[in-house]
Amino acid sequence: MKSFEHFINGEYRPSVSGKTMDVINPSTGKKYATVSAGDEQDVNLAVTAAKAASPAWMLTPLAKKQTILQKIADLITERLDEFSEAESLDTGKPISLARELDIPRAASNFSFFGAAATQWSSESHVMPSQAFNFTLRDALGVVGCISPWNLPLYLFTWKIAPALAAGNTVVGKPSELTPATAAMLGKICNEAGLPPGVLNIIHGTGPEAGEAIVKHEDIKAISFTGSTAVGKRIAVLCAEQLKKVSLELGGKNPIIIFGDCDYQNMLQTTIRSAFSNQGQICLCGSRIFVEANLYDKFLSDFIFRTKRLKIGDPMDPDTDIGSLISEAHMNKVMSYIDLAQQEGGKIATGGNQVKLKGELGEGYFVEPTIITGLEQDCRTNKEEIFGPVVSIIPFETEDEVVAMANDTNYGLASVIWTNHLARAHRVSSNLQSGIVWVNCWMLRDLRTPFGGVKQSGLGREGGWEAMRFFTEAKNITVAYPHNE
Ligand code: NAD
Repeated sequence: MKSFEHFINGEYRPSVSGKTMDVINPSTGKKYATVSAGDEQDVNLAVTAAKAASPAWMLTPLAKKQTILQKIADLITERLDEFSEAESLDTGKPISLARELDIPRAASNFSFFGAAATQWSSESHVMPSQAFNFTLRDALGVVGCISPWNLPLYLFTWKIAPALAAGNTVVGKPSELTPATAAMLGKICNEAGLPPGVLNIIHGTGPEAGEAIVKHEDIKAISFTGSTAVGKRIAVLCAEQLKKVSLELGGKNPIIIFGDCDYQNMLQTTIRSAFSNQGQICLCGSRIFVEANLYDKFLSDFIFRTKRLKIGDPMDPDTDIGSLISEAHMNKVMSYIDLAQQEGGKIATGGNQVKLKGELGEGYFVEPTIITGLEQDCRTNKEEIFGPVVSIIPFETEDEVVAMANDTNYGLASVIWTNHLARAHRVSSNLQSGIVWVNCWMLRDLRTPFGGVKQSGLGREGGWEAMRFFTEAKNITVAYPHNE
């Protein structure tokens, strides 16, 4: 049986307490590994290592930083198969998704921010005849990066890579449900020549290991991705120390389909944007608003396509829908399917747990589910489900659909399908959303700001936004010599 350990000061080691936790394969419901259960003592060791490594890493030439980060990217890419299998086993996601999305993106995060380190510049402001200002962007020192289970290596590296590129050392914590690929990253960092202590990885639960990272006084900033409830708790803890914090949280994303859209492209993409990773992507759309004149056709085609999705062994390259992450999460998703029916919704397709054959019989599989007939103003349409469940709602006018789309506490990502240019601009600007995709979904340029409004987050990741978050500005004003 595998065992995943902390990575501290360039070495793998168990918890000081000796405690471990079970790691479950969600497609079988069986334990397949153990992981060290970290707490404050392990976090203290990691912070000590990160602090010791900090001065030298800050002073490492930018080109050297880039070379190391690029090497990490290359080594991840070389081991694409190994990483994809580990990610799929740990999460229950289809291996094709891990191969095409998760792992390549983790590699891109390192190469992108490695390059960013060498392109990053800061401002100067001239006050004619008086002085000039130049602004330094100093690394913060030791920072904490905490990530969720849905895109484990992808989201972990989306934080770690800019933190390192900006000259910080890192104490990171992946989700306790999905420790595998983060554990593999340590070895790769050593091979790539990342000095010991620059990246430290602590495993364990949120309350034990996560809070110890957030509360540690020598950790100068927290970059967190996860649920809104935990994000709020972290914001409170950070406020006590006036610690910098970036929060990427939940969503209840609208997909708005107008009758004049490019229908086939929309249909194909909407299947992905609804059900990729079993709907467990923070950017997946869960409320699909369809213009009334297209509603019947769309519903029938969407149901037809959804029924064709293959639910099965995540390791099978032909599988479209794998398992949900855990039994608890599956129960939560099923409870929302029940709630939808209590609220007057009708299940157009799906709605059931799936019992596959053989060792997958105890896995956490749920059919992709389409619900119709719900009013916008109900819990099913307002609360985050984070599973393969969508609600389809007809609309008549642009104003009506914008109002319904905005009628949620969340504001992460929206999708608009229309070929009417003016309408695309109008609706995009009226949506309360950090990200709007027009006629596409998940098309990501890593330079663009990434994040949500309202309860979906605080701050932005990506490009220079991330480099700014992981640095502190210091302005220096130099007076010009006084001419008599
Ligand atoms: P979660 O909030 O339960 O956990 C996220 C991470 O925080 C885990 O590593 C967990 O161990 C840790 N944690 C939990 N409690 C903590 C505490 N008190 N202090 C410090 N750390 C703590 O979220 P999850 O269930 O792992 O992930 C699903 C959620 O993440 C969904 O709400 C989803 O929308 C959100 N998400 C958001 C984005 C985004 O970019 N906005 C991306 C992916 C997922």
